[in-house]
Amino acid sequence: MKKALVCGAGGFIASHLVKRLKKEGYWVRGVDLKRPEFSATAADDFKILDLREEKSCAAALDPAGVPDDARNAGGPGSREPGGGLFDEVYQLAADMGGMGFIHSAECEIMRNSALININMTHAAATHGVKRYFFSSSACVYRDMEAHEAELTEEQAYPALPDNEYGWEKLYAERMAMAYGRRFGMTIRLARFQNTYGPEGTWRGGREKAPAALCRKIAEADDGGTIEVWGAGDAMRAYTYIDDLVDGIVRLMRSDLENGVNIGRQEYVSVDELVKTIAGVAGKKIKMNHVKGPVGVRARNFTNDRIKSTGWESRFSLTEGIARTYPWIREQVEKAKKG
Ligand code: NAD
Repeated sequence: MKKALVCGAGGFIASHLVKRLKKEGYWVRGVDLKRPEFSATAADDFKILDLREEKSCAAALDPAGVPDDARNAGGPGSREPGGGLFDEVYQLAADMGGMGFIHSAECEIMRNSALININMTHAAATHGVKRYFFSSSACVYRDMEAHEAELTEEQAYPALPDNEYGWEKLYAERMAMAYGRRFGMTIRLARFQNTYGPEGTWRGGREKAPAALCRKIAEADDGGTIEVWGAGDAMRAYTYIDDLVDGIVRLMRSDLENGVNIGRQEYVSVDELVKTIAGVAGKKIKMNHVKGPVGVRARNFTNDRIKSTGWESRFSLTEGIARTYPWIREQVEKAKKG
């Protein structure tokens, strides 16, 4: 039985990843500052830990509590030297949010996420972990013009991320690769596009555009008006959670070194995203464009590397929204009832 440690397992993407790893027959430990908010964790073991601290990262890898039949030969806490207790670590813990958060919490992002990555990469390497996954972001790339030719992964350099969140991700990617070289730990680096789906943050200031717009439309009357940050013409691609998780699993099993983009190549403007959600909701919605943090003007990335693993996006934006909007509407209705 393979054993995986999933960091950030109280959060959106990692809680879905835990479900997938359980389906694949793994023994899974989740760690986070909090348990998942919207449903029980699927992990076999869940530890509340602050991964900014070195001792917490070591505790995350503690063999105590891992059943004997799930233990590797070798590594701390087991019988033979040379191997680690956990076969795989998936590092998805981050101080994280949508554009509003990324622009208002630069220092928190740079400090907290860097500390998590510094300590977790070191702990994994020094505990003999064999494969280490890091969740990087499309924010490592520079700003683009709409309809510019696709960027390949190598074109993250020369580096010019649009925000500090992207710079921290680049640093963490490089640190993981350095530890991989020194300790012989296999590193897999995914650069996620904007991802959405049920059980993602939908209010409170950290929600991303698809969830925020689903919430606004769920709260609006038919024929009503919602506020949209910016001019509505920024181009983005949105990836449904099941597609992303499938990409993570395939990448981890692949031999792909260095950064790998994972995202659906269906580029739409923010206004088109609003229209898609309104269509799914069955409402006529007017938009009031207001000043707000928007981020880059456009995105356009090749996906050839992840596609070489057999990965394909299976959910169009409309299909993904059709699975997400009803869940957000339900949260809005529950919140109204108190
Ligand atoms: P999320 O905020 O739902 O999950 C992150 C989790 O990390 C949270 O549960 C949080 O409590 C936890 N965390 C934060 N600080 C911690 C600490 N000090 N110790 C332990 N846990 C801590 O975010 P998500 O959308 O699930 O993102 C997961 C990863 O994917 C992150 O690395 C994020 O940067 C990356 N990513 C996400 C997207 C997206 O669209 N959602 C896009 C690109 C990259």
